[in-house]
Amino acid sequence: DALGPTVVIGEILVEIMAKSRGDGFLEPIELIGPYPSGAPAIFIDQCAKIGGSAAIVASVGDDDFGRINIERLRSDGADISAISVSPDYPTGSAFVRYRDDGSRDFVYNIGKSAAALVSLTVEAQALLARAGHLHVMGTAFAIPGVWEMTDHAIGVIKQRGGSVSLDPNLRKELLGHGQTRERFARLVDAADLVLPSGDELFVAAGVEGETAAITALLARGVTEIALKRGEHGSTFFGADGTRLDCPAFRVTEVDPTGAGDCFGGAYVACRRLGMPAFQALEYANAAGARNVTMQGPMEGAASRKQLDEFIAVTPKNSTSLDTAARGQARK
Ligand code: ATP
Ligand code: MG
Repeated sequence: DALGPTVVIGEILVEIMAKSRGDGFLEPIELIGPYPSGAPAIFIDQCAKIGGSAAIVASVGDDDFGRINIERLRSDGADISAISVSPDYPTGSAFVRYRDDGSRDFVYNIGKSAAALVSLTVEAQALLARAGHLHVMGTAFAIPGVWEMTDHAIGVIKQRGGSVSLDPNLRKELLGHGQTRERFARLVDAADLVLPSGDELFVAAGVEGETAAITALLARGVTEIALKRGEHGSTFFGADGTRLDCPAFRVTEVDPTGAGDCFGGAYVACRRLGMPAFQALEYANAAGARNVTMQGPMEGAASRKQLDEFIAVTPKNSTSLDTAARGQARK
């Protein structure tokens, strides 16, 4: 952390959730919320809460939805100096309802909300000038100006000798738009650490197959990959060929939203605090698993002490899928 805080650029939202499963919002249903949300906000909250130096460039409205986010981030230790408050636009929001099959219906207000006004304000420029790491999140590219801001921020951070991580959770529909594919490829090239989940690995690498995709990413200058596997845990791949599988903690999933963001926040913070990869993975798995046990996307973000307690009492799933598969292959 010595070089300066981890910075993320992107959306702050509130999430309002249906209390019942079912299809969409076509009749009156019970809702619960607002909960602080937005993938970059969840990431940075977890990053700060575990003890990392962390800050966010974002925009909210001058309303209670904005205030609950700012207050949460502030109390969890994030630097909120580069969150701007729009007098004209409301804080972004997402209404979410789970279907029986686990998929989700959304009603978003992001593009026409304060979230879309994120810009390189004087405060954001000052933050970047003292930042040590930039975490780039694919979700933020739903806001058009974020591409230019991210390019600029990568330049500033790299110039200072800082590093870049990428969660390639870009909405797939966006990849078809204009220059998106080339721009996304440039992000992958700029990244030191990539944290993909599922198929995002193949999208980021531009090749199918886990081994081929990992090889391709490492050949492009990525030095570290932390692959998220949901209830199967996670795997670290290093530039020197190291592979570390970390099984998931065994928990009852209440709300899966935010697991990947908490995983990322914990992982990046721990690595920047100087922890070895296996220890960072363990904290990241714990952060992701603990978060899915709680209703609300950011509600399970945890301090290092809370994660130590969680790790001490929570059993692990016996093997990750992949370890099981390799065991079979040996027989
Ligand atoms: P999201 O669904 O929030 O986009 P993601 O797809 O980016 O998340 P996941 O792999 O779902 O990432 O979750 C990140 C990490 O959190 C996993 O690697 C795992 O360690 C932990 N995790 C997620 N879901 C579970 C679960 N059901 N049981 C145990 N651990 C989990
Ligand atoms: Mg994800």
